[in-house]
Amino acid sequence: MTTALYTHAECLNHRTPAGHPEQVARLEYINDALSAGMFDALDRREAPLCEDADILLCHPQSHLDTILASEPETGSRALDADTHMSPGSVLAARRAVGGCIAAVDAVLSGEVGNAFVACRPPGHHAEQSTPMGFCLFGNAAIAAKHSIERHGLERVAIVDFDVHHGNGTQALLWNEARALFFSSHQNPLWPGTGMPEETGGHNNVHNLPLPPHSDGRLMRATYEAQVFPVIERFKPQLLIISAGFDAHMADPLAQLNWATDDFVWLTEKLCDLAEEHCEGRVVSTLEGGYDLSALAASVAAHVSVLMEKTA
Ligand SMILES: [Zn+2]
Repeated sequence: MTTALYTHAECLNHRTPAGHPEQVARLEYINDALSAGMFDALDRREAPLCEDADILLCHPQSHLDTILASEPETGSRALDADTHMSPGSVLAARRAVGGCIAAVDAVLSGEVGNAFVACRPPGHHAEQSTPMGFCLFGNAAIAAKHSIERHGLERVAIVDFDVHHGNGTQALLWNEARALFFSSHQNPLWPGTGMPEETGGHNNVHNLPLPPHSDGRLMRATYEAQVFPVIERFKPQLLIISAGFDAHMADPLAQLNWATDDFVWLTEKLCDLAEEHCEGRVVSTLEGGYDLSALAASVAAHVSVLMEKTA
């Protein structure tokens, strides 16, 4: 079995204003890191364009229409203070959703053991009708709904370790009893949601706020106590990871102090749980991570673990 890598050159055409942290260079640094010889065994695939119907698994037609109508012909258009579109943004966003959908298909069919989707824009902040936090469509939530509605899965776990609360994924899966969503995130921090009292329509949401300046020791203890046992009991048929790397100590947008080794540890633990319950089926999709060097090193470490687990 192999690890698939889904990406597409069109994800470089989504341009944000100068100085914006969610920049084209993020994906260029990741591409460079994943071109090293140790990644020769990756099954490299182009992220396909998604269909409208894929987006409509989680968003109303009005949201899709708004995004399509918001793409500028030149320059940049701000949807809010953080979230921008450029010429090419719609195609990039369709690749990001399409990569997640294709990754789910490839993993569930047994073509590949697991998959990483290196696309942008990210997705975990996009709510039903609200693009926000650099995100246009809910990539990870759409992947979960796709696995449920079209593959018939009854238990899908989504783990979001981005330093920001996955408010969009939470909103999109709030009433989906077949999806179990975990978000660890710094609190206080934008967007301000993600309190433990937010538990979803079916007790299917688990929020794990972490204080600023805490490090990997607290993260590990928190996951050992509050995430892994719940996943054990749930027995997922697929594990989706919203892989943001902005909890890294070098990241400029937050104040957690995780090291690259902490991402390695967490990825290994999640892969082991997937091995135990669902033949190792993991689909991981890129969210945040804004220190370019730390992002590239952390993604490389994360993908290395995915590869080791399918070797
Ligand atoms: Zn983030």
